[in-house]
Amino acid sequence: MSNLFVVSGPSGSGKSTICALAAEKDDRLRISISATTRAPRGEEQNGKEYFFLSDEEFDEKLAAGEFYEHADIFGKRYGTLRPYVDSLVADGFDVILEIDYQGAYQIKDQNDKAVLVFIMPPSFEELSARLRARSTETEEQLEIRLAKAEAEMKESVNYEKIIVNDKLDDAVDEFLRYINEKREKAEEMRDE
Ligand code: 5GP
Repeated sequence: MSNLFVVSGPSGSGKSTICALAAEKDDRLRISISATTRAPRGEEQNGKEYFFLSDEEFDEKLAAGEFYEHADIFGKRYGTLRPYVDSLVADGFDVILEIDYQGAYQIKDQNDKAVLVFIMPPSFEELSARLRARSTETEEQLEIRLAKAEAEMKESVNYEKIIVNDKLDDAVDEFLRYINEKREKAEEMRDE
């Protein structure tokens, strides 16, 4: 049986890096690739970070029931692709969904066993500095992201586990330890 880990956190919290490193170190883990209508940033490639869709393509998939969840974020649409997740589960992998809190709650409603993990930056100042350093956004987009980050951080009270990403390696280790704890608990429950 596969386990489902939902990972949220404001952009700039380092959640993508943590998930990528965790999946590198643990070969039972795979990260789901979402669909989005936003444009690729920097070196992003279709089918790697996201499946980049037009609004029409997104609508078609929505109508066909191909999303486990979907949400509007920064005026763009994002969704977890049912066939993609199902194929990972069929292959026996534990799956990470890197999605926002709106999606996290939709997943939890559908699957009570999904585990919600929140990646927290060490401080709001640090988050702001990281986003500025990344500088893939205009000043206006940055302000929007920071406002959204503040709102998102408040949602962390609804998560089962909060990991503060102060030192990257420590945060990855803490995430992997937590994943293993949850796997063991899930197996114990199944044996009962
Ligand atoms: P970005 O545009 O920076 O890659 O992502 C913006 C936000 O969208 C992040 O909080 C990210 O976790 C979230 N996100 C990415 N994919 C999905 C998805 O499939 N569903 C939902 N609900 N959020 C997503």
